[in-house]
Amino acid sequence: MRLSRLVLRHFRNLQNQELELPSEGVALIGDNAQGKSNFLEAIYYLETLRSFRSARDDQLVRFGEDVFRIVGTAESDGSAGDGDGDGGAEGDGDTAQGDRGGPTEIAAAFQQRGRKKKVTIDGQEAERLTDALGRLSAVIFSPADVELVSGGPSERRRFLDIVLSLNERGYMKSLQDYRKILQRRNAALKAGAPTSSVAAWEPGLVRSGAEVMAARRRWVHAKCAAFGDYYAAVSDEARAVMSYAPDVSIPPGAESEGAASTEEAIADAFREALHDSFERERRRGVTVVGPHRDDVRLRLEDGDEGMDLRDYGSGGQRRTAALALKLVEAMTIRQHRSRNPMILLDDVFAELDPGRSERVLELMEHEEIGQVVITAPKDADVRIRRDQLTRWRIADGVIEA
Ligand code: ATP
Ligand code: MG
Repeated sequence: MRLSRLVLRHFRNLQNQELELPSEGVALIGDNAQGKSNFLEAIYYLETLRSFRSARDDQLVRFGEDVFRIVGTAESDGSAGDGDGDGGAEGDGDTAQGDRGGPTEIAAAFQQRGRKKKVTIDGQEAERLTDALGRLSAVIFSPADVELVSGGPSERRRFLDIVLSLNERGYMKSLQDYRKILQRRNAALKAGAPTSSVAAWEPGLVRSGAEVMAARRRWVHAKCAAFGDYYAAVSDEARAVMSYAPDVSIPPGAESEGAASTEEAIADAFREALHDSFERERRRGVTVVGPHRDDVRLRLEDGDEGMDLRDYGSGGQRRTAALALKLVEAMTIRQHRSRNPMILLDDVFAELDPGRSERVLELMEHEEIGQVVITAPKDADVRIRRDQLTRWRIADGVIEA
């Protein structure tokens, strides 16, 4: 996909303006604190309807204003893809993205007063926000991605949840169900409700939880090799391995069975874990097992030796692993949505050594990617699609196209 037009109104420090984006993409050059990341934040908002920097919506409204509004026109860049995806039911390309015909206009607005968010697709208000997600098929790379590796398990769960919500039909619903039921079960535990009323939440918790775990597990298994390949391509060093570390231990052999029975095996394991920890939950007043405590382990393997990247990785190794994760995200879009992902790069090469940056760039040039929007403080830092990319300047929120 590509973004052909962007209209900004009262978003962060950005001047109200309307921009036509070249189909190859654009490089936005400007000093620190001029609005480069804000610009990418606005674009990516149209993909996920939230800030990629996990800012709250009210923080995105320009100081002193009441409403921000972003309107974008997304067009197919002709990348119908070959649709040879991962196989499986989710590979049919219409997860949440509507039709593939002409341009789509995505408009998102948030009003401080009343805390109202409104999203329209081609002028029609989206009934549920989930219906409006993923319209750009974009992936954003930013220096903060390193937190995916350095940070706690919740960072990695959030990454999984975003990727799967955008690319696997039904995931978002399972996740929302799980969270809702978990909350109620926790409330019952906390209130010291009778065992029967805590138990009433169990079937729903187990079902939705098993769906979430099965999808996470499937994705990590399917993409582990690609993660290792990307890591190796960028770093020229030991093999990186990504593995799913569910809080509920899943019996080995579950994968050899069909998808439905895998989910059943996971559900059985979850149910059992809940029973085993019930006394502890009673005492603590909270659900202590389940996918809300999952993690994804990222390791470097070298023969029999191995190390966890979070605990022992160097800055550059962690950054490389984070980049590999994002490249896998882009690959997921290609496979599941049959679209070339739009790539947003927020000053990402600043922190990699020259060899690594060179290899990332090479890799990106070879992958099928769509439009590229890159920000950098200096012209010389823009090395992707060197000659094709139009240069824009930004100063104090004003973009000179
Ligand atoms: P760097 O190169 O340092 O990453 P940048 O160009 O990416 O800089 P941004 O993160 O886009 O900079 O931020 C630019 C400015 O936006 C900041 O100086 C900040 O004060 C301002 N800003 C942030 N939120 C708002 C807001 N809601 N209203 C007005 N200005 C804001
Ligand atoms: Mg920035």
